[in-house]
Amino acid sequence: MSEDIRQSLGLRPVINVSGTMTGLGASIAVPEAVAAVPKIMTQFVEMNDLQRKAGEIIARLTGAEAGFVTASCSSGISLAVAGAITGPDLLAVERLPETTTSKKEVIVQVGHIVNYGAPVDQAIRLVGGTMVPIGQATSTHRFHLENAITENTAAAVYVVSHHVVDYGLLHLSEFVEIAHARGVPVIVDAASEYDLRGFLETGADMALYSGHKFLGGPTSGIVAGRKDMVRNAYIQNYGIGRGMKVGKESIFGVMAALEAWETRDHEGIRAREKSYLDLWKDTLDGRPGINAVIDPDPTKNPLDRLKVMIDPAEARITAWDMAAALAAGDPPIIVRDHEAEHQYFYLDPCNLHPGQEHIVARRLGEELDRAQRSNDIIATPIEDLSRHRFDSLLKWPD
Ligand SMILES: *Cc1c(COP(=O)(O)O)cnc(C)c1O
Repeated sequence: MSEDIRQSLGLRPVINVSGTMTGLGASIAVPEAVAAVPKIMTQFVEMNDLQRKAGEIIARLTGAEAGFVTASCSSGISLAVAGAITGPDLLAVERLPETTTSKKEVIVQVGHIVNYGAPVDQAIRLVGGTMVPIGQATSTHRFHLENAITENTAAAVYVVSHHVVDYGLLHLSEFVEIAHARGVPVIVDAASEYDLRGFLETGADMALYSGHKFLGGPTSGIVAGRKDMVRNAYIQNYGIGRGMKVGKESIFGVMAALEAWETRDHEGIRAREKSYLDLWKDTLDGRPGINAVIDPDPTKNPLDRLKVMIDPAEARITAWDMAAALAAGDPPIIVRDHEAEHQYFYLDPCNLHPGQEHIVARRLGEELDRAQRSNDIIATPIEDLSRHRFDSLLKWPD
């Protein structure tokens, strides 16, 4: 095992059982990407040509006509929407976020306007797009989309994610059918999705992915789709995209990650992850107030997680206090706790180094034992979580 750089930096050696999290450094880069990056760091390349090469690989894997690499999926949303607004007009590209056209409305279902670490709508507004939210949080009907489309509609954005409301909204096939009937292009934010072909096959004009999530590339985003739209997004690099610049190392690194994806042992990885889930479930089964079940991914990615449901009266600790205890422990273990207010959290196996599963199992047992010995039920008021959520951030760098 090579040295852990975190020690010399004085950083906590966190173990990530929360999934692919920007706040923890995204994912473990695949060995192919790690090997690729230093090969290009010291070379000059003509970047538009490097992006042409990346585009060929993206096209092969996604079935798209064209593609390129950007700084992140979030910047992919901004560039794709910018391209839909400016078209190939270079003066319009330079003028963004000011627009010379009234055709800048972007339709999004309300149930898709989520926060992935930043608001979806901000990525759209950033480039001069005007948000046109349709429907309500948990319902969109065909008539909402049909009536929202006008001659000012530049694009419609569809978000595929565990963050979005997962019932009552329009399915992508209907969304595309209605938009295309009125000549409106559909841009899909598929940042965290394993399916590189399905959204385009369903008719989306552009599909956007993160390069640093399941693909295990360096921090990057992937834009794939119709050639004219991809080109209009690409030319934004000479305007508003400059502040979202992607370097040669990320482009080349994600090219390697994409090629590795084609030959990745998906079955083997699934089996290894299953063994982690079984280990944790065995550790937890039979403990008072704990119910651990294996839960498939909500957007059907080939990934299961362990859902750890806690009855605080029996376990003598709440789900959020358990998550906090693990995060404060040695070593710190970060669980997937966005829904802890419902008294459960998830253990996500997809970003573990082999061997860490045993540390996670041990720490789960230790904290639950400690809670059993506690005189009082360990229960921080839930309101304290929201009250103090940004305390640390707002004191940064202290
Ligand atoms: C992660 C995520 C993003 C942002 O991706 P980055 O590549 O980190 O910018 C956008 N949309 C959704 C749904 C995401 O999950």
